[in-house]
Amino acid sequence: MTTAAQEFLRKAAEKSADLAHRGIVRWNIDQYDAGVGRGKTRFADWEAARQRCHDIKWEAVNHLDRYLLQFEQKVKENGGHVFWAENGEEARHYICDVAARTGVKKVVKSKSMVSEEIHLAQAMEKMGIEVVETDLGEFIVQLRNEPPYHIVTPAMHLNRQQVSKLFKEKLGAEETQDPPELVAIARRWLRKSFFSAEMGISGANFIIADAGMVTITTNEGNGRLCTSVPRIQVALTGIEKVIPRLQDLATLWPTLATAGTGQPITCYNTLIGGPRRAGEVDGPEEFHVVLVDNGRSELLADLEQREVLHCIRCGACINACPVFRNIGGHAYGVTYPGPIGSVLTPHLRGLPEYQHLSYASSLCGACTDVCPVHIELHHHLLHNRRNAIHAGTHSSAERLGMKMFRWTMMSAGRFRFMGSLGRTALRVIHGMRLEGTALDPMRPWTKDRAAPAMPRESFRDLWRKQNGVR
Ligand code: SF4
Repeated sequence: MTTAAQEFLRKAAEKSADLAHRGIVRWNIDQYDAGVGRGKTRFADWEAARQRCHDIKWEAVNHLDRYLLQFEQKVKENGGHVFWAENGEEARHYICDVAARTGVKKVVKSKSMVSEEIHLAQAMEKMGIEVVETDLGEFIVQLRNEPPYHIVTPAMHLNRQQVSKLFKEKLGAEETQDPPELVAIARRWLRKSFFSAEMGISGANFIIADAGMVTITTNEGNGRLCTSVPRIQVALTGIEKVIPRLQDLATLWPTLATAGTGQPITCYNTLIGGPRRAGEVDGPEEFHVVLVDNGRSELLADLEQREVLHCIRCGACINACPVFRNIGGHAYGVTYPGPIGSVLTPHLRGLPEYQHLSYASSLCGACTDVCPVHIELHHHLLHNRRNAIHAGTHSSAERLGMKMFRWTMMSAGRFRFMGSLGRTALRVIHGMRLEGTALDPMRPWTKDRAAPAMPRESFRDLWRKQNGVR
């Protein structure tokens, strides 16, 4: 088992036993579910909106080369710069070089999961640059020195009491349980950073080919301040975020808002079209877009799984996942938790090390049901499992187990014999009171729960007895 898999199992066991943690997450997801339920009723036809979003993303992803080149040309015409980063290292170098050349000492960041993926903040901090997260949830987890817990709600695992204590300890604020007051404390603190930072870094919800624009949506207005006040602006995005036309936002914006937070539309929807032009009163002097590949091209080449690139990072599949609801976001140990992360991460970081994530699912399909762009997530989890088997990365014990299973299932007689053997063995374990002890072969299962009592007869025997048929 890989180190990442061992760590995942350790954290998952710890978090699933933490009932207080589960209570906070469940409460937050219940609020989310209620909001999304209301949000969908505001659409004349929610299913038609999903289909339209799927079609837009399908068109973009299946003509990615064309739309990305069109986007690049437009950004350049608008006075901006575009950098193509094959991997995280190239993206980090480019942005750090821009910061060094322009004398940047402080950066304000709006939420960008790609920046987490490539560990940008850590690289800039090593250069002595102060990096301030300005999304409220990201600000909170940065103060706790933690990665985001969720791609949309980074501090979902915390309640107001914990945030209040944190603000008292780190910011010297008075304790308060009043959410607006907590927001005001963060706001006063962040305000100073917006006006002293030389560089603003944002992600991108979409990049628009026919306009050469980047769009970000936030509920706090921090994205707009990050992209309009500092003199250098960098938008960091995965190559899959491109959409063909400006008018596509008419469907994508409300659908993303509803699936992401249950809102009809996110509070601040900002379009960034380049550096400040002559006569304009605000906007950056330099505008850079960094297009990150980092494994996405390989996913694009995989016709079976290409549609994973349709993801608009709404987080709906994460909230719907029964595994996430019980183990939370940090247990995954990767940038993207939940079903989309379990599908995507083996492609971005390597199947051998991260194949275990494909098994962090009951394959119930709840993720697929809620995805606003119709990604068949549970099928992709299954594809990843199959690919891991074909790559031979599973253990010899698992190989042997599956061979035994196949041998058993290929014959009714063998199935009967093995069933009776298993029932007898479990009755012996039970009779000798070995359950949960070191001698119990079922210990991984019985150490946390009681084994069910084994019936003497199989279902098949009972059926025969009751119905007199074989
Ligand atoms: S896979 Fe679908 S549901 Fe999950 S984050 Fe992406 S768009 Fe949202």
